Amino acid sequence: MSVRVVARIRPLLEKEQAKDVIVTTSQTEDGKPVVKIPSPRNESEEFSFGFNSVYGSATTQEQLFSAEVSPHTKALFQGIDVTFFAYGVTGTGKTHTMRGGLKLADRGVIPRLLSNVFRRAKKIGKDTTGNTSVDVHLSYYEIYNDKVFDLLEPIEKRTVAGLPLREKDGKTIVVGLSERLCQDLKDFEKLYIEANNNRVTASTKLNAHSSRSHAILRVKLTQTTGDMVKESVASAIDLAGSEDNRRTDNGKERLVESAAINKSLFVLSQCIDAISRGDKRIPYRESKMTRILSLGQNNGITVMVLNLAPLRSYHLDTLSSLNVSSRAKRI
Ligand code: ADP
Ligand code: MG
Repeated sequence: MSVRVVARIRPLLEKEQAKDVIVTTSQTEDGKPVVKIPSPRNESEEFSFGFNSVYGSATTQEQLFSAEVSPHTKALFQGIDVTFFAYGVTGTGKTHTMRGGLKLADRGVIPRLLSNVFRRAKKIGKDTTGNTSVDVHLSYYEIYNDKVFDLLEPIEKRTVAGLPLREKDGKTIVVGLSERLCQDLKDFEKLYIEANNNRVTASTKLNAHSSRSHAILRVKLTQTTGDMVKESVASAIDLAGSEDNRRTDNGKERLVESAAINKSLFVLSQCIDAISRGDKRIPYRESKMTRILSLGQNNGITVMVLNLAPLRSYHLDTLSSLNVSSRAKRI
């Protein structure tokens, strides 16, 4: 069981100004990467937060992928589950990191991961000595207000309560969640675009914003050799925004949403902490998301990217996201 927590600072957008930058990167004396941010009360005081790696604003999608994701695709094909999270305040680059842009160079973790998976699967299929077949099944769902909704189904099929969970062979399954067989990257892209459109339509209808739900992509890999079946799962999660919604917006519905978001992000950080400490007991059953992911079970590999915007306007939210995510807390 292993976990990496890394930080990624996004570049300034067009309207943003260099003079408003307050987040910087540095290293401790013994070479450990840190993110630095001033205290909100006393500008001359600075806090440092330690991570396994820190990626500055010039980091490309390709660089992040080859450092943090690509090394784990081999493990995935060995039967190990891998899970990638993007954590952070709305507007810091979670969706950019996970989904990315349309241009080839801008593609994020998810399309690159799938491209890698299909390339490997094809190679295994062509291997003259092997008689292994590889199937790739895709599921995609969101958790909104602690309810699970299938993103591969049209929104008309949604029920108010969402999809129920059930325990089966010690695992938690989402009852009725669709799984689609994907033959190649084209197949995947078509489904993924459709599903993301579903997500936007659904949040518009609910008068919600997609930043208030967790979007979870599940890629199930089944490798069959004769009677032997090896199954593993890669999950990629674009988390709900970690900002404190109470501060900015105290409508009743928003409060219900923030309670659900806060709880699931809190449990997630507790799980990540427990895994990194090597604890036997991981509190993954305490939220729907970590329970469905079986987080920290089965020798899985977990990578969490904390996305950061370097600007003063994000000061308090950035500080709280650093407090929750960083490995060595304040040092
Ligand atoms: P979030 O999903 O966390 O709310 P987004 O991914 O939507 O944030 O990013 C907010 C804005 O910043 C978008 O316009 C996005 O294109 C841009 N952005 C984020 N990260 C980067 C990056 N590394 N390079 C270039 N633009 C980025
Ligand atoms: Mg987003």
